[in-house]
Amino acid sequence: MIPFNKPYLTGKETQYIEEAVKSGKISGDGVFTKKCHQFFEQNFQFKKCLLTTSCTDALEMAAILLDIQPGDEVIIPSFTFVSTANAFALRGANIIFADSTGVNPNIDADKIEALITPKTKVIVPVHYAGIACDMNKIMEIANKHNIFVVEDAAQAIDSYYYGKPLGSIGHLAAFSFHETKNVIAGEGGMLVINDDRFVQRAEIIREKGTNRSAFFRGEVNKYGWVDIGSSFLPSEVIAAFLYAQLEQLDTIQDRRIAIWQRYWNGLYPFLSKKGVQFPVITDGGTNNAHMFYLVCKDLDQRTRLIEALKTAGAWSVFHYLSLHKSPYYEGKHRGEELVWSDYYTDRLLRLPFYYELDRTSQQMIIDKIVNFYEGE
Ligand SMILES: *Cc1c(COP(=O)(O)O)cnc(C)c1O
Repeated sequence: MIPFNKPYLTGKETQYIEEAVKSGKISGDGVFTKKCHQFFEQNFQFKKCLLTTSCTDALEMAAILLDIQPGDEVIIPSFTFVSTANAFALRGANIIFADSTGVNPNIDADKIEALITPKTKVIVPVHYAGIACDMNKIMEIANKHNIFVVEDAAQAIDSYYYGKPLGSIGHLAAFSFHETKNVIAGEGGMLVINDDRFVQRAEIIREKGTNRSAFFRGEVNKYGWVDIGSSFLPSEVIAAFLYAQLEQLDTIQDRRIAIWQRYWNGLYPFLSKKGVQFPVITDGGTNNAHMFYLVCKDLDQRTRLIEALKTAGAWSVFHYLSLHKSPYYEGKHRGEELVWSDYYTDRLLRLPFYYELDRTSQQMIIDKIVNFYEGE
């Protein structure tokens, strides 16, 4: 079977892990964590980077940093991963779900302003498939209403918006290095802090609410409990793995973009005539080849295509399920229809996508899909 995802190893991961283990400093914020922070701060103009154990943790840190209180409102697209919303729900926020656009699953910036109330604290755009949301409009709305922006950039490494790296635009941003993303650490993530006001407190929240980071830098002569917090920092074992990946970022990206382009070339000319919708890179955006998806005509067609691919030996998967209709949130949702979110919930299909996807397998997938649509 051709899997949906297969983690790619650069070959240096175990060597760096061994170095980390033998160095005798295996807990967090050692040599490899610093190398990762530097890599991101130098290559992506991120003001301050802090590795975390997941993107979920980075989002939870963001919610604590922004002092989200019970009753505060947070605007989030309904078509996203559960962690985007959960991080804020954990602090008692009311999640106000927004719809996607008709061109791609990103949040519809034109519909945000109508959702703002005096209780709105944060907007969380999610760069779906690594494709930039309409950040100019989102930042303009946020600045006008004095609201914070946290970019869920889990899928958006090495993707840009009018030349700016995604993750460098909002006040805060969260990245994921889960094994399904472009660059991986098994489980791992990062909080990016672009607003200086949050740097000091972010370090404290990440270190169990203590000023231990300042202590290790010699800035204070003892450390203690100064704020709320948790243990959000990963061990050096994780950072060593991640660094081996970051060194190969350009190679990984070149290869993924070539795979993405082959899907496009093989599928777009015929399927676009059959009413299938393809990823759209909106104004100012770039393609980081995080995933390749199709938007089928309806749920039935998607279900049959998944079956046809499975029979041919390839796993394709759908996601997400609109969060405003989830068992947990359904009763709390204010009741607006979010038609585009439901549209993608029923129709979007992700094709197998990973570094080592070979040409023969990919051609087989393309042929099978074209063959399927010949009968539609
Ligand atoms: C993967 C993903 C997450 C969660 O990342 P973890 O590192 O697994 O916590 C959050 N948001 C989006 C949009 C994602 O794709």
